[in-house]
Amino acid sequence: MAQTILPLLLGALLAISSVSACIYKYGTSPDSLAAPHGGSHWDHGRNGEDWDGVDAAGKPWICMSGKRQSPINVPFSNVLDNTGSHVPSSLQTKWSYPVLVSNGSNIQVINNGHTIQVEWTSPWTGNAKIAVPANATDNTTVTSVLHMKPDARATYVTATPYQFHFHATSEHLLAGRYFPLELHIVHKVTGLPGCAKGCYTVTGILFELSDGADNSVLNSIWYNMPTREGEIKHLPKGAQIELGRLIPKTSERDYVTYEGSLTTPPCSEGLLWHVFTQPQKISRAQWSQYRAAVGLKDCTLKNATTTTTETTNTTETTNTTSSEHVHRHHRLHRHLLSEEATTSHPEDYTCEIVQYGSNFRVSQLTYGRTIKVARAI
Ligand SMILES: [Zn+2]
Repeated sequence: MAQTILPLLLGALLAISSVSACIYKYGTSPDSLAAPHGGSHWDHGRNGEDWDGVDAAGKPWICMSGKRQSPINVPFSNVLDNTGSHVPSSLQTKWSYPVLVSNGSNIQVINNGHTIQVEWTSPWTGNAKIAVPANATDNTTVTSVLHMKPDARATYVTATPYQFHFHATSEHLLAGRYFPLELHIVHKVTGLPGCAKGCYTVTGILFELSDGADNSVLNSIWYNMPTREGEIKHLPKGAQIELGRLIPKTSERDYVTYEGSLTTPPCSEGLLWHVFTQPQKISRAQWSQYRAAVGLKDCTLKNATTTTTETTNTTETTNTTSSEHVHRHHRLHRHLLSEEATTSHPEDYTCEIVQYGSNFRVSQLTYGRTIKVARAI
């Protein structure tokens, strides 16, 4: 008797463990928003050192081959020590980020499986003004400012933010020092002939831990941060995001600027980067909440009753049952995502944090690139 019962018990145990161990590695959940867009799968598991794939059109990423990749470790010598070449005050970038106010449906906080990203649908007048040569041609790039002389005839083009997101720990390092969190505000540049197909500039803001107080600018986002991949939350009506308060005040507004790339696949180059050297502050609780949101989860559908305890006669049959159950579980995840646009049912799932996440790419070689500091005016 015991000889027949033992395999049955083992089979049932195996089946149960397959159901309860539905742990998704960060970026690999079947309901990740990243997957349906095509191209190769990627995640931050090796911090970007295995990003050798293709985009949705089959074009190879340049993460492994590019010579102008981001992020970088901003050098001390000849850059942060102020002995290097500076961006003259007449050519410095100017930021204007008025308050972004929610009407209840226009601002989304998205957990896309790679980061926590904020997007908005209504026009917002936030912008950064970038200096370019006055006589710009089709060949003039948005990174021209890095090579302009102080007496150059310049004009300004507009860079409009369209999303911002976070990395933990920071992607950029300042003289080898990393920070708990980095915010990237991604802008599209208009007004330059050569940017018809798209030019981008990113503003990076570093955060260090505070003595305990929360950063109030982040509160509206943190209060509405989705913890499960594929989940989207709308900021409630009246909620505000004051990005402008994260820009260092004028007297402390030193920034580092260089030509780099997207820090995630396809790692496209030609971006103008700005990283403020004065960090902002976050509380330890805010930092932990972010890492939990991008961490490993064990998610279970609340009403998915375990049917796998049904007894089976052979190990082979048990495996099939277990596999079917896992697939059913995954389908339910996808179904949930497809409904997300109109209805959200995160309450259908119970997710337990099993490990804090990190979503940064390691520093890239600079290959002699021009890296300049703009000193506070
Ligand atoms: Zn980023």
